[in-house]
Amino acid sequence: MSKRSVLFVLPLVLLGLLTVLVSDFAVKRSQIASDKTAAERLTLYRQTILGVYEKYRYLPYMIARDPRASAVLDKPSEGETANRFLEEMARNSRADLLFMMDRHGDTVAASNWQTDLSLIGRNYGFRPYFQSALKGEEGQYFAVGMTTGRPGLFLARPTPVEGEPKGVAVVKVDTRILERAWREGGETVFATDRNGIVFLSAVSDWKYKTTQELAPAILDELSATRQYADEAIQSLSSAPQTDTKTIQIDGQLYRHNSAHVGLLGWKLHFLVPQENVRGSLVLIWSTSFGLALLYVVGVLVFRGRALRRASAQLRLESAELKELNSRLTEEVEERRRIERELIRTQEGLARSSRLAAVGQMSSAVAHELNQPLAALRMFIAGTRKFLENGNLAAVTQNLNDIDGLQDRMANLTQELKRFARPTESKIERVDLRECIRDSIKIARPRFDETDVGLKVELPDVPLVLDTARYRIEQVLLNLLKNAADAAALAHEETGAGEVVLQATRLDTNVLVSVADNGQGVSADIREKIFDPYFTTKMSSGGLGLGLSISMRIAEDLGGTLTVNKSRLGGAAFILTLPGLLDAGETAIKSKIEKDRQEEPAE
Ligand code: ADP
Repeated sequence: MSKRSVLFVLPLVLLGLLTVLVSDFAVKRSQIASDKTAAERLTLYRQTILGVYEKYRYLPYMIARDPRASAVLDKPSEGETANRFLEEMARNSRADLLFMMDRHGDTVAASNWQTDLSLIGRNYGFRPYFQSALKGEEGQYFAVGMTTGRPGLFLARPTPVEGEPKGVAVVKVDTRILERAWREGGETVFATDRNGIVFLSAVSDWKYKTTQELAPAILDELSATRQYADEAIQSLSSAPQTDTKTIQIDGQLYRHNSAHVGLLGWKLHFLVPQENVRGSLVLIWSTSFGLALLYVVGVLVFRGRALRRASAQLRLESAELKELNSRLTEEVEERRRIERELIRTQEGLARSSRLAAVGQMSSAVAHELNQPLAALRMFIAGTRKFLENGNLAAVTQNLNDIDGLQDRMANLTQELKRFARPTESKIERVDLRECIRDSIKIARPRFDETDVGLKVELPDVPLVLDTARYRIEQVLLNLLKNAADAAALAHEETGAGEVVLQATRLDTNVLVSVADNGQGVSADIREKIFDPYFTTKMSSGGLGLGLSISMRIAEDLGGTLTVNKSRLGGAAFILTLPGLLDAGETAIKSKIEKDRQEEPAE
């Protein structure tokens, strides 16, 4: 069972337990209340019965002693006197009947002598009260009147009260008054005799029914004494309960309490219907059930709400995610587009930068070409003269010089043409020294023009690497051009512009350093000089693309391009490229290394 289910069920279990406890408490409370009422009532009713008994108990004794009643036993002629006396006594004492029997049980005088139901002449010798009285005992007996059919308590005494009895004086007390009182009190009370037969009852249906199985001997006795006249003794449809204090009669449950009425041998029963308890139990359980239902519905509603909230949140989040995703996709697409555009622009710019560099150098180149052209003219004029003079040796020398000049010019134009071509990125095995020399050839006019000295220190052994030759040359040309620009300014100010190019191998890498004695790169623009379009040479037509393109080329080819402070006082740009191991280290390696480790530029 999950923790969540336990948490869900726990309140229900607690509610169940609480209900059981409350029900139990309610039942106990009602039982205690019932028992208390029963005890009070039983005492009261017992006292009432005993009160009645005590009231009439001595009446037969007094009658037995009175000669007005007993004379008839000796002299039948005294019958009327006796009858009148008994009638008067009955009226005064409110007894139901008073009568005198002779020793055979024949009634010789009775208070109802003038009524149709007169007892005179009738024999009741079989009644136990008569027999007890004959024995000199106090006869007391509940029975249904044989003649009147009215139930009552018979009390009997022998007469004379002492010695051999001649007859018996009897009082019959009407007990219906008791039943009426119980009924009016609205209470369920009944009395049973020693055989368990109900003979007084607030519920008249229960009368003359038995609460227990009757033995045949008892049944015989009942028919002999005619105690309950012709009433057929049926059993009270009562079912004994596990709890002795509970009894079920005619399908109805009662709380049962009883008390003995000692002198008479009766038992009084007081019943309280359990409907009230049942009603409150039903109320308690239905309240509890209602609460449980409310709780379950509440939890379900709450969970439903939480679920709805969660799913709404999920929907919202997934919608947000979708939107984010589509925004990202759009952004990626946009970035790709911009990247493509950038590449196109960069390609165009690289070309423009090259063309700009070519443009800038064209005047220097023109100047460079003009010199050999002028020399060429001079050589040709000289050669003509030597031919006319027949000096063939001088002619040959001149033609050689002309060849040299022409080679120089061809080289120059060749280099320019190559540089202006779109970038070639074919990877080939090159000796970096050759790339450096070619770059210098193109840059040379710029140095000559600005009167800046260029010192080149290359190792004697080849610096072999697999790289894109013309792209490297483009980088070197940019660095040389920038250095020449910086040193040119120094030249203008101090009269000495100087650039030193060194190349060496360091471990597996190849390093080229281009240092100058210019103004250097100050700390505040150090980060920016590699950005595209950053230039401090706006006035002289600088595009601010040289370093950014050079940096990109260096990184494309697996290398780096950094700037340091140069030992010459200006800037030192260092190009590092992955090289191929080759025998022989150069002497200037340590020198370049020193430059690299100089403090950063201001
Ligand atoms: P441009 O030369 O067209 O300005 P670059 O990208 O080649 O474009 O250079 C950017 C800037 O870096 C230059 O404008 C200059 O301020 C600075 N710079 C480059 N080389 C040097 C150098 N050798 N000495 C001092 N400053 C330099």
